[in-house]
Amino acid sequence: MRAKELLESVISIINEQNSWRLGRAINMIASENVMSPLALKAYMSDFMFRYAEGKPFKRYYQGTRYIDELEVMTEKVIGAQLGTSMVELRPTSGTLANAAVFRVLAEPGDAAVIAPVQAGAHVSHTRFGTLGALGIQQVDLPYDADNMNVDVDGARKVIMQTRPKFAVLGGSVYLFPHPVEEIAAMVHEVGGKLVYDAAHVFGLIYGKAWPNPLERGADVMTASTHKTFPGPQGGLIAFRDEPLYKAVGKTIFPWFVSNHHLHRIPATLITALEMNEYGEEYANQIVRNSKKLAEELAARGFTVVGEKLGYTRSHQVLVYVRDLGGGAWAAKTLEDADIIVNKNLMPMDPPEAVKDPSGIRIGTQEVTRLGMKEGEMEVIAELFYRLLIKREEPEKVRKDVNEFKKDFMKVKYSIEEDRLITVLDLLR
Ligand SMILES: *Cc1c(COP(=O)(O)O)cnc(C)c1O
Repeated sequence: MRAKELLESVISIINEQNSWRLGRAINMIASENVMSPLALKAYMSDFMFRYAEGKPFKRYYQGTRYIDELEVMTEKVIGAQLGTSMVELRPTSGTLANAAVFRVLAEPGDAAVIAPVQAGAHVSHTRFGTLGALGIQQVDLPYDADNMNVDVDGARKVIMQTRPKFAVLGGSVYLFPHPVEEIAAMVHEVGGKLVYDAAHVFGLIYGKAWPNPLERGADVMTASTHKTFPGPQGGLIAFRDEPLYKAVGKTIFPWFVSNHHLHRIPATLITALEMNEYGEEYANQIVRNSKKLAEELAARGFTVVGEKLGYTRSHQVLVYVRDLGGGAWAAKTLEDADIIVNKNLMPMDPPEAVKDPSGIRIGTQEVTRLGMKEGEMEVIAELFYRLLIKREEPEKVRKDVNEFKKDFMKVKYSIEEDRLITVLDLLR
């Protein structure tokens, strides 16, 4: 192909993606969200071409006066909401935020205790991910299946025996808050630290719909800025422990990050300002929506995980679909009808079931941001029912999905005048 044809096909693929995922599809991947048009405009700036190694006002580069100012402002605005003055924005992802914290807290060969995979641990907490890459040993805390959580009594024994350098709570697939106070007290007793990985629930914490781990004994919180917190893709660390803040600040660069994707800083700041204004309303609506979606799915015959505990307190709903055809089949069938979720290991699955796990994970944070409320959760549950239980043709259901989505194109919970345009329009 000639360059011109290639170019046309690149542009056309990008436009296809935009009109599919921003236009026609119902996006329910639990780790995603969309930025507001204003944040997106702020994202497109000269900052995306620049470097600023080092801490604000102590950079190794010239030309950084404006990013210095904005980075400090962002740290202040986010810190104020979380109750700390110590915030790091330079990790470009949640995984790198974890890497920086883990590496400072432990040397290769040291041990860390983590929430077990059944309680939602992310791969970066395990020997297969960042923890393993750093040579830190993974010791699992025991799992309490009845409460779908870390087993607090069993944890005491493991922590006293292991005497870990740190414990990690928080996860990727979890419905209920982990026992931060209890585990913090135990690791502190053996001289360790508690890391809370808030990648998924950072927006819920920011909007006060989920307990703030820094107020409950965690020494440090890592996060992604693009899951329930609807900013640009990026990472963040908030500290309660000052020596740790200083040590991590000195090592992010040069250990893990050289350029920190500067253009995401003003976009994150605008998102934070929007969240200061509308975050509580947004976060509480997310949780109400996931509860409602869970109830409506259960009412239509789905096996929704966590029934005895009220299904969910987060943005996630987990549905067991082994008896219907398995997680891989369910996720593909939904995708054929333009509903995007991911297949997921359920707490009852063995780890080797990862290619065809028993369940799907559904997130309500993005549809909530587009203005959906409890009534729309009923509509979505019915679409799931038609596809996965009644087994209507995906092509037929897709028409209804696309029609339904037309009314939910604009980002709510953002600065007023900005709600008039869609992100899709802005990208045209
Ligand atoms: C998504 C996730 C991460 C990784 O975040 P990225 O920003 O994608 O690197 C880390 N921890 C948990 C618990 C997550 O769910």
